[in-house]
Amino acid sequence: MALLEVHDLHVAYGKIEAVKGISFSVEEGQVVTLIGTNGAGKTTTLRTISGLLKPASGQVVFDGKPITGVPAHDIVARGLAHSPEGRHIFPRMTIEENLLLGAYLRKDGDGIAADVGKAYAMFPILGERRSQAAGTLSGGEQQMLAMARALMCQPRLLMLDEPSMGLSPIMMKQIMDTIQELKSTGTTILLVEQNAQAALSLADQGHVLEVGRIALSGSGPSLLHDEQVRKTYLGEE
Ligand code: ATP
Repeated sequence: MALLEVHDLHVAYGKIEAVKGISFSVEEGQVVTLIGTNGAGKTTTLRTISGLLKPASGQVVFDGKPITGVPAHDIVARGLAHSPEGRHIFPRMTIEENLLLGAYLRKDGDGIAADVGKAYAMFPILGERRSQAAGTLSGGEQQMLAMARALMCQPRLLMLDEPSMGLSPIMMKQIMDTIQELKSTGTTILLVEQNAQAALSLADQGHVLEVGRIALSGSGPSLLHDEQVRKTYLGEE
């Protein structure tokens, strides 16, 4: 049984149908990526899975249980964390305070402290600047903080929405290396990316979204070598 199953999901904003019948699954330990152009429905899909949007129809099953209609905070409590597009860190709070917000559902003080230590080991810059306002971090560092905060609830599935958005090539590589590192420790990840090359290079499975539908699915390497994907998403002639 897959950890996450999405069945025939339809989501609309008023009359605009943003997601028109999407189905896919994520197995435990896998990295699955959704790629596609602006407006294809990737963010809408993630926001619906995490309970922030209500689908018009279809079902989301997490760990064998339907979660469609379950409030977003309960979905987090079940182990599904979402690092949103645009990061949404709290700029006036310190880096450490931002991290601790990610653990707000936990009561195990020692475990939380250990996980803060792990976050600083993974992202040393966050540790060095733990007492500074998070708004002083660069865009890439804020992305690290958003990922580290999502990990603080010890998720069984981590959803990352465009982690490389707006980053310099060096920062982007660092973020992708971190995702690779999380993958190697067995973290299950659903990754939304416009950078198809980077996402497909580390994904076990990929789905290409086009105006609300899955146009093509396959393993990361097979999509990376697919002629149509190369032309449309990797900018090759
Ligand atoms: P991007 O990479 O630009 O975020 P995306 O693939 O994540 O693209 P979505 O943000 O899910 O796409 O948008 C899918 C469609 O839904 C688009 O046509 C978009 O204009 C529309 N849409 C998104 N949010 C809203 C909203 N709050 N109200 C109305 N329409 C919306």
